[in-house]
Amino acid sequence: MAALTRLLKPSHSFSSHISYIPRSLSTASIEEADPRFPSSPFSTPNPLPPRSDPKDRNVQWVFLGSPGVGKGTYGSRLSNLLGVPHIATGDLVRHELSSSGPLSLQLAEIVNQGKLVSDEIIISLLSKRLEAGEAKGESGFILDGFPRTIRQAEILEGVTEIDLVVNLKLPEYVLLEKCLGRRTCSQCGGNFNVASINIKGENGNPGIIMAPLLPPPHCASKLTIRSDDTEAVVKERLHVYNEMSQPVEEFYRSRGKLLEFDLPGGIPESWPKLLQALNLDDHEDTQSAAA
Ligand SMILES: [Zn+2]
Repeated sequence: MAALTRLLKPSHSFSSHISYIPRSLSTASIEEADPRFPSSPFSTPNPLPPRSDPKDRNVQWVFLGSPGVGKGTYGSRLSNLLGVPHIATGDLVRHELSSSGPLSLQLAEIVNQGKLVSDEIIISLLSKRLEAGEAKGESGFILDGFPRTIRQAEILEGVTEIDLVVNLKLPEYVLLEKCLGRRTCSQCGGNFNVASINIKGENGNPGIIMAPLLPPPHCASKLTIRSDDTEAVVKERLHVYNEMSQPVEEFYRSRGKLLEFDLPGGIPESWPKLLQALNLDDHEDTQSAAA
């Protein structure tokens, strides 16, 4: 019952708390908000006070996407552009592990046993990170790799407001090609990708072009493939991700906050389109960040 009450709680107001609304949210590219979750700022007040004055704060966005889709790349580019921290939960875990923080021993045990880090630990690391940022005068964030479950999404909703969830998408066969094309130089550690993707658009669907990232000649003979980059393992990874992410996508879709973005290709093709979809294409720093 408690969970149900929480689920039926009206979502927070969206438009009143951010300085601009991504263009795509006002057009047909985003699904209609579920009428069960009214977004009026005048409905039941949020039981928790906002973390800071919403008028002063920067964007609070979440990036979702399959492994290999490039959400880290786009998330960190946008964080540079908007001057907000890019917070990846994987980095938080690694950082805690390398520190002598209170959770590091517990974490080391979990990771060494190959177990999943619990929601509680992730939430605790994230709150700590957000509080530290706030103390330094940081405002806003782009979350990468979080929330991964409905439960995490619900907890996050109780802690702070999420303005927008960007779901980056590529067709599965493109993700597969990209993962199978990954190569690492055994000498210098450089990362490359030999996959060359050029899919012609048909039936009204746009094509996808992604240039390979080829190694320089002195690395070419020393390339290695990660042992878990096999077709079966990559497919399983994508399958597990899809199963896990669909309820989270639905959670935000029902609140009118999910922006679906089909990547049209690699960074040169996708970056300008993404900025357009986010209504950032006339952002003053766009030029320097794209360079
Ligand atoms: Zn090399």
